[in-house]
Amino acid sequence: MKTLVLGAGVIGVASAYYLARAGHRVQVIDRQPGAGLETSFANGGQISASHTQPWAGPGTLATAVKWLGRPGSPLRIGFKADPRLWSWCLSLARNCTAGRQRVNAERMHRIAHYSLSSLAELREETAIQYHRLAKGILTFYRQGRELGPAQARAETFARLGSPYRVLDRAGCIAVEPALARSETKLAGGIYFPEDESGDAHAFTDALAGISAGLGVEFRYGVAVKRLVAEGNRITAVETDAGAFAADAYVLALGSYSPLLARPLGLNLPIYPAKGYSVTIPIGDLAAAPEVSLLDDERKLVYSRLGNRLRVAGMADIVGYDTSIPGARIASILEAAKSLFPGLGEAADVEPWAGLRPKTPDSVPIIGPTPYANLFLNTGHGYLGWTMACGSGRVVADLVGGKKPGIDMAGLGLDRFA
Ligand SMILES: Cc1cc2nc3c(=O)[nH]c(=O)nc-3n(C[C@H](O)[C@H](O)[C@H](O)COP(=O)(O)OP(=O)(O)OC[C@H]3O[C@@H](n4cnc5c(N)ncnc54)[C@H](O)[C@@H]3O)c2cc1C
Repeated sequence: MKTLVLGAGVIGVASAYYLARAGHRVQVIDRQPGAGLETSFANGGQISASHTQPWAGPGTLATAVKWLGRPGSPLRIGFKADPRLWSWCLSLARNCTAGRQRVNAERMHRIAHYSLSSLAELREETAIQYHRLAKGILTFYRQGRELGPAQARAETFARLGSPYRVLDRAGCIAVEPALARSETKLAGGIYFPEDESGDAHAFTDALAGISAGLGVEFRYGVAVKRLVAEGNRITAVETDAGAFAADAYVLALGSYSPLLARPLGLNLPIYPAKGYSVTIPIGDLAAAPEVSLLDDERKLVYSRLGNRLRVAGMADIVGYDTSIPGARIASILEAAKSLFPGLGEAADVEPWAGLRPKTPDSVPIIGPTPYANLFLNTGHGYLGWTMACGSGRVVADLVGGKKPGIDMAGLGLDRFA
């Protein structure tokens, strides 16, 4: 069977790999000159099944109001007359109950946890290299009063199979000695030993190479314009390089998926949430952490990628704008420098912005559509790197008519019906 995967981000490439491994003929189309060059390029690097906490929860709206307009705030919303934005916000608000949050967290964890084990198997099979560090993730807090609620959140994921340890300041430094030199006040943290980190772009690029070795054909520099349907089947994809046809299609265009789905009558509730990162060459290697970190107050993550440190975060809800305002980058850099004073010079820093494909419930959309041969693998929001391998694997199973290795209830488009 021939399958056409639309999008060569980490999700599209993982889909292509698992499809090829299952014996499909696979073609991948992407408008960029290589794999993983949009949102999968310079993300926070965390593989964090233990942090599958949906954005929407009981305190979310109050926190959002508190943050709005503050300089250096983790959240910025450019309110505009975009009906898609308003309907997305409304849907997010509906997910802000404790009950919805619990359901959504379990769904996110289910695919993230499966991804972690799928990634381990993939590593065994391929010996893929991507600056992996399996040293866990430490979430740290400046105020002692934050630790209780943080532990309650961690308990949810411990019950689902992701263990944690509560640490005081000395315990945090024992886990990550680079914190000893920090100028930031530390009250303590929660350590998640089974989480990992690694370079999502290096992984995507390497996996594309491995997939090409399995026979996958990558067509780069090709922009998808329209999906053509006849009855309940997709018959072709129109691109700026002509039409492509296959027996089955996987839509993995990240934040752009809803734009291509809408003309087919499919409403994918995905809205872009722009985030930023800086990648800092490390001058003094002992001055930078090896354990991946989450600064929960500022919503910034730190991941060591070889001799570089990636610091990422923030969410600007401003539509499809990928500009990089200097003030946002300066704010991330200031936080990084105060946490780790011995880092490299600001002049060598690489700033970046990417659009997280966010669903209102933070759960990705994976599975069938009303079109018999069109499958979705999109909407992975702030955890697409974490969820990539599991998502690619289950979508390959669904395309091939096989039962996936996890229960797919609540992960598909039908939950929005
Ligand atoms: C600041 C930031 C930090 C993050 N940190 C983490 C983290 O620590 N851990 C984690 O798990 N996740 C993280 N994420 C989220 C993660 O990066 C995304 O969920 C993931 O990259 C989404 O992958 P994707 O393949 O769906 O999208 P993309 O990587 O955007 O891939 C979509 C592809 O579709 C192509 N495309 C789009 N439209 C067209 C078209 N019309 N024609 C042809 N091609 C097209 C694009 O070129 C692109 O290559 C972070 C994101 C951001 C922004």
